[in-house]
Amino acid sequence: MMERMEGIPERHDLPEPLPAGGPRPADPVRARFPPGPRAAWSRVPDAQWNDWHWQQRERITTLAQLEKVIHVTEEERRACVETDAVFHMGITPYYAALMDPEDPTCPVRLQSVPTMGELFASPADREDPLAEERDMPVRCITHRYPDRVLFYTTHNCPVYCRHCTRKRKVADPTSAAARQQIEEALDYIARHGEIRDVVISGGDPLSLSDDRLDDILGRLRAIPHVEIFRLGTRNLVTLPQRITPALCAMLRKHHPVFVNTHFNHPRECTAEAFEAARMLADAGCVLGNQMVLLKGVNDDPRTVLELNHKLLLMRVRPYYIYQCDLAKGISHFRTPIESGRKIMRALRGHTSGLAVPHFVVDAPDGGGKIPVNPDYVVRHQGKTWVFRNYAGKEYTYYEP
Ligand code: SF4
Repeated sequence: MMERMEGIPERHDLPEPLPAGGPRPADPVRARFPPGPRAAWSRVPDAQWNDWHWQQRERITTLAQLEKVIHVTEEERRACVETDAVFHMGITPYYAALMDPEDPTCPVRLQSVPTMGELFASPADREDPLAEERDMPVRCITHRYPDRVLFYTTHNCPVYCRHCTRKRKVADPTSAAARQQIEEALDYIARHGEIRDVVISGGDPLSLSDDRLDDILGRLRAIPHVEIFRLGTRNLVTLPQRITPALCAMLRKHHPVFVNTHFNHPRECTAEAFEAARMLADAGCVLGNQMVLLKGVNDDPRTVLELNHKLLLMRVRPYYIYQCDLAKGISHFRTPIESGRKIMRALRGHTSGLAVPHFVVDAPDGGGKIPVNPDYVVRHQGKTWVFRNYAGKEYTYYEP
């Protein structure tokens, strides 16, 4: 009998399988994704709820607004006031409705409602943990690796994630990418023939209008050496209404476009998120997920397995699991490295390789992404290698 390993879910812990018999829903995959609740917004007409401009306008940014949606704890109340000068609160009604109003440990709430841990500075904390500012030849570009750049197009996001690694810029209107700086960035990319891959980030680039994004993508596409774009966006998670037919039609013109998003918990995989992913995938975008390992949110194998299975149903390939980095004020989210290795042991071999992302530490001070894997090599001598497989059995391989 196959050995079981610590942390690996039993079959009955996994998401409900598709129905085996009887009447099947018209779309049995979509039917597994229930719509997100409306909570305090139950009387809002569909037309408004589904309008991303309305969702942006109605964001929760004050304690008084938050108290109308959840039962705010004393600690959260203090944190809302005391963290405001450091990193604003911003939560779309859609994402706020996913929160458990009674449970301060709710994974959606932990990601979006301030807590006092944000005011604690650990000795390891850094203002710019990935040294992105160090490698900025012009204001909106980080150019560290020869063939690719990170292009900051805006510093706004629909939800300000409490674990954000770019707190130093995001939500700060004085750091917003001005038109002149965007021009300088486009000019820099055009002058550097080695750049073939542009990661369009922020903030969240889908905070820009379709026309503005179309203009940026069109001008990048006109640069002969630029091959691919990667849009880094959390809108699928926090504002799926932003994915409209008009946006998809615009993106279609600029392929190949890769979209990397950031789901952290299965609770975020709603019917609305499913539909947003479907529209982007149908428009020809290649979708990947970059999860961040967060204490109390997703630091257990069962949660990650359920999330990754749901993502595959949504046609989103689990791409990375990031160890939480050393950004200032997020030490309360950090887990031991071993938590990530335990999750990887629970995934590898126990589910399809498609559901197994890379677990990486984005090394402090600009060291780049370093993969961290469970150790499958037992010993190695000369041309003989002894490996341990996912079930704990040893196998020997002889090199020629
Ligand atoms: S969407 Fe990304 S950039 Fe924006 S606050 Fe969240 S983690 Fe930070």
